[in-house]
Amino acid sequence: MSEFDAIFVGAGHNSLACAAHLALQGWKTGVFERGAIIGGAVQTREFTLPGFRHDFGAMNLSLFAGSAFHRKYANELKAQGLEFAPVADCFASAFPDGRWFGVSNDLEKTAARIAAFSAADAATWRRLVAAFPAEAEHLFRLLGSPMSARALAGTAWNLWRKKGIAGSLDTGRLLLSSPRAWLEETFESPHIRATLATWGMHLDFAPDIAGGAVFPYLESMANQSFGMVLGKGGADTIIRALSGMVTSAGGKIVTGAEVAEITVSAGRATGVRLASGESHTATRAVIAGVAPKALTGRLLPNGSGDAGFDTAMQKFRHAPGTMMIHLALDDLPDWRAGAELRQFAYVHLSPSLDAMSRTYQQAMAGMLPDEPVLVVGQPTAIDPSRAPQGKHVLWVQVRMLPAEILGDAAGKIAPDHWDKVKEVYAKRVLDIIETYAPGLRNKILGRAVFSPIDLERENPNLVGGDQVCGSHHLAQNFLFRPARNYAGWNTPVAHLHLTGAATWPGAGTGAASGFMLAQQLGGR
Ligand SMILES: Cc1cc2nc3c(=O)[nH]c(=O)nc-3n(C[C@H](O)[C@H](O)[C@H](O)COP(=O)(O)OP(=O)(O)OC[C@H]3O[C@@H](n4cnc5c(N)ncnc54)[C@H](O)[C@@H]3O)c2cc1C
Repeated sequence: MSEFDAIFVGAGHNSLACAAHLALQGWKTGVFERGAIIGGAVQTREFTLPGFRHDFGAMNLSLFAGSAFHRKYANELKAQGLEFAPVADCFASAFPDGRWFGVSNDLEKTAARIAAFSAADAATWRRLVAAFPAEAEHLFRLLGSPMSARALAGTAWNLWRKKGIAGSLDTGRLLLSSPRAWLEETFESPHIRATLATWGMHLDFAPDIAGGAVFPYLESMANQSFGMVLGKGGADTIIRALSGMVTSAGGKIVTGAEVAEITVSAGRATGVRLASGESHTATRAVIAGVAPKALTGRLLPNGSGDAGFDTAMQKFRHAPGTMMIHLALDDLPDWRAGAELRQFAYVHLSPSLDAMSRTYQQAMAGMLPDEPVLVVGQPTAIDPSRAPQGKHVLWVQVRMLPAEILGDAAGKIAPDHWDKVKEVYAKRVLDIIETYAPGLRNKILGRAVFSPIDLERENPNLVGGDQVCGSHHLAQNFLFRPARNYAGWNTPVAHLHLTGAATWPGAGTGAASGFMLAQQLGGR
């Protein structure tokens, strides 16, 4: 048995960021990870062939690069080997009519591409980009602050002072709008609308879901203004740097150490019991980077002592699942719509707002979508070090899928467990890519397919393959993430905290939940 000041359940990047900050404040920290490899959804592994490094989950590290944690600890992270690969050609969409549109960090390039669809939209884009710094100040402040009355009042006061009542209401309206509402009132080209709307599908914001507009808005404006960032050699560069910070500050990270129970005495968390039977004590905090259902369902066998909290954790809603297909390639895809697409980090295949709405609805109804949204990541177009010379990896994210298959919208695949269905569904996905990039199959040297259930097997936080660990719809975001009264990483059990994607401010690689909690516990 060891005694720590703080014990972390799981080594996701939020927990590691929190542990790093506390360890640097002098706390004795212990991180216990069930898997053989730390990083949770942020890992880079040779899934296909030797020398081909695939990002298991997150590939885009822009949130980490722009995070408050990175701002404070840029030097320490760099000293631990953190290296980014900057992206100029960020994201694009290829369309069935053979056209394409993409956003690069060069405004003239993007505007010229938009003008080919609509001169009015090109002018709108320039206006939005010019207004972005003033708008971003408020949105980033909101997303980067705790959900406390004080922080919210400060954000609202600053917004009102800078933008007045009408301007503040405009920002509020954007936060409440659906992607479709914002895109249809802002752009006239269906191609531009569809390209931007796909960012909502990275979360669970299909075009008609209220509260989703801000994601296409922020991603497109941020990519235009700052570009995108990948990890040099793999997204796990942030994990290696974070773990280096933890251990060099005296913290301990243990892998293959599943936490079976969080021990509680007199309403206070006192430590953990591992599946191996080992126990460890924590004198100041136990920080669980787990999905809410696992917290009260498994780790607290007697519940939290607050029935309302326990019910809220059990009813926490997950978003539809994701399938990941990793390919080792002889060469990048030959995109029919244009060779320029080969240089983009992401090529989205999501033809229209209606197609995206349909896909979401199909997944919610338990159906395999006939035409899933595909996010085709081309990391080696930006960072060739991830594959042997001249070769490539492809990162294909299939959105959105049911965890349990009740039927097939195309009427071709009989409902069954994902273990039986994943290869035949992966064929549907590759068939779709072939229509946009003929000849892709001939370039495949190796492949690895992860169904939604495989994702959960790798990381139990990805419940049913939910890559964002919980729906981000308005009723489960902001003050309600993960539940009302618990948006401050608190629980009814003293000294027990929840961190990670299920907590405010949600999913992504921004380490915001872990870092805000760390500052709350250990000071700035
Ligand atoms: C396929 C996919 C693609 C994504 N793409 C992007 C992207 O490009 N950009 C982006 O910003 N975000 C992306 N995301 C989202 C982002 O990666 C996640 O939101 C984020 O990494 C979650 O971090 P976390 O700190 O919540 O912990 P997680 O990464 O979920 O890690 C939790 C860890 O806790 C461990 N654990 C759980 N229970 C226990 C237990 N009882 N005992 C011990 N250990 C336990 C797990 O094994 C895991 O290692 C993607 C996610 C996925 C899955």
